[in-house]
Amino acid sequence: MYNFIIRNAKILDGAGNPWRIGDVAISGEKIAKVGDLSQEKAITEIDAAGLYLSPGFIDIHTHSESLLFQDGRAHAHLLQGVTTNVLGQCGSSPYPVTQLRKESSDKSNLEITWETTGDFLEQMKNKKLSVNAVPVVGQGAIRQCVMGFNPSKPTSEQMDEMKKLLKEAMDSGCYGVSTGLIYTPSSYADADEIIELTKVISEYDGLYFSHIRGENDFVLEAISEALRVGREANVPVQISHLKAMGKHMWGKSVDILNLIDSAREENIDVTFDQYPYKASATGLGAILPPWAHEGGAYKMRERLADPVLRDKMRQDIIDGVGNWISIYKGVEFDNILITDTMDDDTIVGKTISQIAKERGNEDPFKTCFDILENHEGRISIVYFTISDEDIERIMKHPLMMVGSDSSARPIDGPLTTGLPHPRTFGSFITVLATYVRDKGILTLEEAIRKMTSAPAYRLGLWDRGLILPGNKGDLVLFDLAELGTKSDYTDPVQYPTGIKKVFVNGILSVDNGEHTGAAAGYLLRKNKC
Ligand SMILES: [Zn+2]
Repeated sequence: MYNFIIRNAKILDGAGNPWRIGDVAISGEKIAKVGDLSQEKAITEIDAAGLYLSPGFIDIHTHSESLLFQDGRAHAHLLQGVTTNVLGQCGSSPYPVTQLRKESSDKSNLEITWETTGDFLEQMKNKKLSVNAVPVVGQGAIRQCVMGFNPSKPTSEQMDEMKKLLKEAMDSGCYGVSTGLIYTPSSYADADEIIELTKVISEYDGLYFSHIRGENDFVLEAISEALRVGREANVPVQISHLKAMGKHMWGKSVDILNLIDSAREENIDVTFDQYPYKASATGLGAILPPWAHEGGAYKMRERLADPVLRDKMRQDIIDGVGNWISIYKGVEFDNILITDTMDDDTIVGKTISQIAKERGNEDPFKTCFDILENHEGRISIVYFTISDEDIERIMKHPLMMVGSDSSARPIDGPLTTGLPHPRTFGSFITVLATYVRDKGILTLEEAIRKMTSAPAYRLGLWDRGLILPGNKGDLVLFDLAELGTKSDYTDPVQYPTGIKKVFVNGILSVDNGEHTGAAAGYLLRKNKC
């Protein structure tokens, strides 16, 4: 007797094979049997005629670490069929922590009760999680622990200290390390420093995730840098949220993909992920040149109070500084929308241009600088910067995986402020409904592969991502015709239609589109149980 038999489903195996009609039995936390199970019985039998059954979706690029730590219900992701989140992307993770990091950090609502990555993961392990979590450590976090917001090259002692922290994180079960090379202090590391550091993970079969140093004018140079890290540190590389940003760069995806293809011909093990949206999301601070961030957020606000430095910032935002190009270029204030502040709802949901108009038609640069100066904590934005053509070209590439670049928000409670990017609620649904069903950009089988076995294989999650007997029972049952999301930029908090059931480790976690309250996810630590 099995716990569940899902009967007559169109089974998408996750490997990209054409769907086949069959039954899938779940016993305990595993897939017990696949095939014709008409002679077998289960406690719960599900008639899935006409529906697709696929492995649970693995979101290879999330920022869920702090959120899941505080509230693991994960509605925004689970209700899309996402059963696993990869944490700690873009150089950023709340672990590890040192005194120097505490002193140089901006205000946060997360109470710090750990020091090492291992401490954090030990606590995380005991949290109730509705999705599985795959830990990755941020290089920016590690650098801040050792050097604060000091932009200089590390001394050899500092380098050793950083390596020690990374080693500790990998020993504690992390799957790799990430950089966020447009964010300070991650961006203070040059390629040599990143190579030196990431050599540590090559001993652990770890993956180097890179939010590269630029996604606009110097995107090719930035990709080349990530590839160089792969070559010289001998590590596999995952380029995060691949795109070409700014109107003046539209069409560059051709060169970008050529560069990546030729790197693989030279045996560099590189893959990438993408979210299916034309707007990016980040903190408004990312508009400022790197020097404005030196010393941390307090220092940044101090500089913003100085009119001379404001003029210099404005000039640098327009012209760039060396290889640094502001996210402002090819976007401008009409296309930058404030989505969250920690202390002022009156500006949320408006573009900087709109706010400037409301403030007596003032110069939008002044508006932008005032917002940054006057609000303590992070100002979140979305900004419209990517072309449809580039999204589609990148999506079609076999190396592409789906990553939402978002956090798995719960449905209610204190962590649900602001307007998150709609990718939070709709990345996986949008790929399937818009890019598979409506536009025919991908076949269903290929899209599912990019959400399941491709990330599982990349990470070494050997018992997930494929519907095979013995694998973990992470499964999604959906109706392709009904699949849809109304989540958009000004009204993002919307849950999808068409997801019938989601199983996490063999437990029914979504039933008829509703969270069952199950918390069946595990913290998956590499080489640990
Ligand atoms: Zn990023």
